[in-house]
Amino acid sequence: MLEKRDGVARICRTEFGETPLMIDFTEKPEIPIDFGKAPYPLKEIDPKRFEILKSKDERINVATGLAVLSHRKLVETLIELRRDGRLLYTPALATPKNVPILIYLGVDIVDNIVPIIKAYEGIYMLENAEFEIDSLRALPCNCEVCRNSSPKDMDEEKVAKHNTLILKRQIGLVKEHIRMENLRNFVEAHAKFDPALTAMLRIADENYEFFERYYPVFKKSKLTPTSEDSFERPEIRTFFKRALECYYPKGKTLLILPCSARKPYSLSKSHRRIRSYLGDLLKGVEEIIVSSPLVVPRVFEMVYPAMNYDVPVTGKWSGDEVEFVAEKLKAFVEKGDFNKVIAHVTGGYRRVVERAGIDAVFTAEDDITSSESLRKLKKALEDVERVDFDLFVSMFEHMFRYQFGVEMPSVDCLVRGRYPNLELKAENRLARIDVRYGMLDIYEEFARYLLKKEVYTIRIDEFEPKGTIFAVGVREAYHGIRPNDLVVFHNDSIFGVGIACMPGWEMEEADGGRAVEVKRYWKL
Ligand SMILES: [Zn+2]
Repeated sequence: MLEKRDGVARICRTEFGETPLMIDFTEKPEIPIDFGKAPYPLKEIDPKRFEILKSKDERINVATGLAVLSHRKLVETLIELRRDGRLLYTPALATPKNVPILIYLGVDIVDNIVPIIKAYEGIYMLENAEFEIDSLRALPCNCEVCRNSSPKDMDEEKVAKHNTLILKRQIGLVKEHIRMENLRNFVEAHAKFDPALTAMLRIADENYEFFERYYPVFKKSKLTPTSEDSFERPEIRTFFKRALECYYPKGKTLLILPCSARKPYSLSKSHRRIRSYLGDLLKGVEEIIVSSPLVVPRVFEMVYPAMNYDVPVTGKWSGDEVEFVAEKLKAFVEKGDFNKVIAHVTGGYRRVVERAGIDAVFTAEDDITSSESLRKLKKALEDVERVDFDLFVSMFEHMFRYQFGVEMPSVDCLVRGRYPNLELKAENRLARIDVRYGMLDIYEEFARYLLKKEVYTIRIDEFEPKGTIFAVGVREAYHGIRPNDLVVFHNDSIFGVGIACMPGWEMEEADGGRAVEVKRYWKL
């Protein structure tokens, strides 16, 4: 039964225990498993014989013999295996080093066969490294086996026990990252320890269409892109895909600004300084913030991951980085009908604007908040065309479109609250910004509207939901729903909003597990 998803990785309560888990072959396994007589790679060489000899276990999908595959073939095979919703067990494959990416790719159950074999070859394993036991001067571990021992006390059995404990500890750590929705950050950082892991992650990222079906659009964890390997992360690809689709700038003048460490950008010292200096001159002007690897129109600054990311800032931009960001900036600028572009940027940010081939007026000297830079910016903004629109209302409209794929209803409304904790009100409260997830939370009228539009809706059985709606109670669900999405559930007597725990298609397929956490509901 599904407890928590983070992309393809998941925590499930099962008869074997809570997954992801390790079967311990130093003890006799409690539940017998049918391993079959043929390794999984035989499927490709001799599919007929494979059908006869494969594992016939009904409860779990057992894929033996994957260790012989190349990195590419292994990733592709795991993706193929994941299409089967059952628990996935890959015997004799996991090590403390590769287990984070195996779980990221959808493996639920592993074992300690490799750590045991390695122990008999004299290999002492840690989360990020492997040593020949004879080459160690001291044991860099304080597990129950290593504590008070030295390398010469360690026989094969003790090393096997230690290796097993390290694998178990790594799985425990991965599980916590799943709960925190932080697994991708961890896997990406961990992959740096081994080129094989980095290769597997890159190959996984080539399969965005597969991961997209499971990946949340909104997350509570901070995105930490640290290298160019991050540019193809599902979160970043999803952001650009949706934001480029949903960006409809109204203004005729565009101001390009550099990013800030603090998020949302408007709360940063530099952006506050610029905004307060310019005052009303910014009214009716569109803004786009250049960062790396993100490019964020101001109207999307409170959307995940723009709302919650952290990048290493050194002022140095690589050629590939400039190229990547310039291409995205160009695409956003082309969505508008701008007759003047002002770029208040320096250094690498300026190179991005130039590389994008944008005909811009540059106004910043070395320091974007110096009085000379600000004076030039003010002058450039004095005689521009202004279109009358409210920035905060435009933010709600853009966030609504980004989140639900439809236009926000046009109602007479006001924005209330203290930035970034804004809410949209008519007679009643319509929506508010959920700053934790970088998305909108909605109330009765907007929920009714989504019901009418038939988007992000879930048809449930006739019951009054308390707390959690389980997949068994779901009759139909909108297939675009991803984990963490705000959804509207309904039956003949009630409707309400909640947070999805699994993708919409999975709610229909799964016979158990958490589907929706209820926030509030109303009588129909
Ligand atoms: Zn140890």
